[in-house]
Amino acid sequence: MQKGILIVSRDNFYLHDILKIEGISSDCSERLDDSIDDYDLIIISNVKFTENNIVYFKRACKRRKKFIVINPDEKIRKVLDIGNAKKDDFVIWKKFNSTKLAVLNFDFLKRTYMFNEGKDATPDKNGVFRASSTTVVKGNEKLIPQADILRRKLVEVIEECLDYPLPRIWYLPNKKLAGVIFSHDSDEVSDSEFYRINELNKKNSVNSTTFMLIKTGSRECWQSYSRDKHDLQLHQAYFYLPNSPERLRGLSARLSSNFFSMKFQKQTLNIEKKILEELSGKKIVGIRNHGLFWHNKDDIPVWMHKSGIKFDSTLGAVYDYGYLHGTGMPFFLRMPKDFKRLDVLEFPLHIMDYVYLQHGEKTIQLTHKFLDNAIKYNSIITFDFHHKFLRGKILDYYLDTINYAKKKGLLIESMSYFNDFWRKRYNTDIMGIRFEKNRLSYNCSSEKLAEIDGLSHIVPMKFRNKKLKRILCEGKQIKFEKIGANSAYAVFESSGNGKVIGVGYG
Ligand SMILES: [Zn+2]
Repeated sequence: MQKGILIVSRDNFYLHDILKIEGISSDCSERLDDSIDDYDLIIISNVKFTENNIVYFKRACKRRKKFIVINPDEKIRKVLDIGNAKKDDFVIWKKFNSTKLAVLNFDFLKRTYMFNEGKDATPDKNGVFRASSTTVVKGNEKLIPQADILRRKLVEVIEECLDYPLPRIWYLPNKKLAGVIFSHDSDEVSDSEFYRINELNKKNSVNSTTFMLIKTGSRECWQSYSRDKHDLQLHQAYFYLPNSPERLRGLSARLSSNFFSMKFQKQTLNIEKKILEELSGKKIVGIRNHGLFWHNKDDIPVWMHKSGIKFDSTLGAVYDYGYLHGTGMPFFLRMPKDFKRLDVLEFPLHIMDYVYLQHGEKTIQLTHKFLDNAIKYNSIITFDFHHKFLRGKILDYYLDTINYAKKKGLLIESMSYFNDFWRKRYNTDIMGIRFEKNRLSYNCSSEKLAEIDGLSHIVPMKFRNKKLKRILCEGKQIKFEKIGANSAYAVFESSGNGKVIGVGYG
């Protein structure tokens, strides 16, 4: 029996979650001790190498355990003799005590965090705070998801280290290559507009998500969302003075960022959520802040977490577009200081209709390219189309975007749908891996969930010099398709909790 991957770090399971995004299961420990003997691969991240740790490390190397050392400290750098290594190489392969090991000579976690959550917000020239500063991703890199690329490079290193073909859970349901979320912010519209857009979406079989400001829409209109099973969530208002005169902007910024206004916003989040829930008859679990405003990354996300908000889509930009948070994947928000995980899944916003307004006819080319990228990087792309803009040219562009996404086979679903799917995926593990005589076996199980239907798996088409021959589920042969760059993986579906998968190579 393979024992799989052990992560040794003190990061509140951050690295574990990062691998989980790639569909990889791992165990975690805070220290290097005897337990490392049980594992095939040990990933050590940001660990202080005491004399004791070095003893464990050297001993395990002699036993030919595999290691990936991330962000090595001075002591281990000396032991491994990588003092002069450059920081910008992704991986340094090292032979040590006859074992091959990989060193990532930089703080992988911090870099991922910076991409995903951005730098702390600063007030813009109007004295307004956006959720975060997205300057981490350079302009010419915004069409490539930097954090996803970084993570997938680590996966390649892991695959290289392991003595068995690594099974993983695929990113999307039903073997889909990419997904799209169409969301609508409800600013300044009447009931008839809501009904019009909902009808339009229904006609085009689009399950969208509406973020509702409690000052827009009637009770009856809100209830129609429940009745028609449209995804209704909260668009939280923000305490600021939008069009304050130049000389008052500094004051306005200070007003909206002091302790009391933060308290105020915390209370209003709960109140607005309750009002919408009571009057719509629907439980509210998702949010996008009006104007994409937050104060600090460790206040509003914490309130969301405490208020029972399960997903958010505030990180993004109004006039800019692309992978501004380095990713086309949802991720759990974390505290900046200790990476503590909040139970709020962030769906970064990739493109808003303001971008369509700016680009005119070029919008069509721009979105087609963007959706092509989504397929290439297996992203879940979030759009925001305000109800108020969905007429004339913008409506044409919206319909064109829908049709292109459909033509390319992308999965169009609401944010609630993807939130549920992502959590199901998160709560499912690949366990009991064995690799003997070119035959891989494992099971896909969830302790929390009774049902894990809809998840797809991937396994490499090739391992060492052997080719994948067939895949079995509980002894019965099942069909697979090729997926990924150069068709490197086989993708297949298996229903049922805990069923044993067998993969034959030869
Ligand atoms: Zn708004």
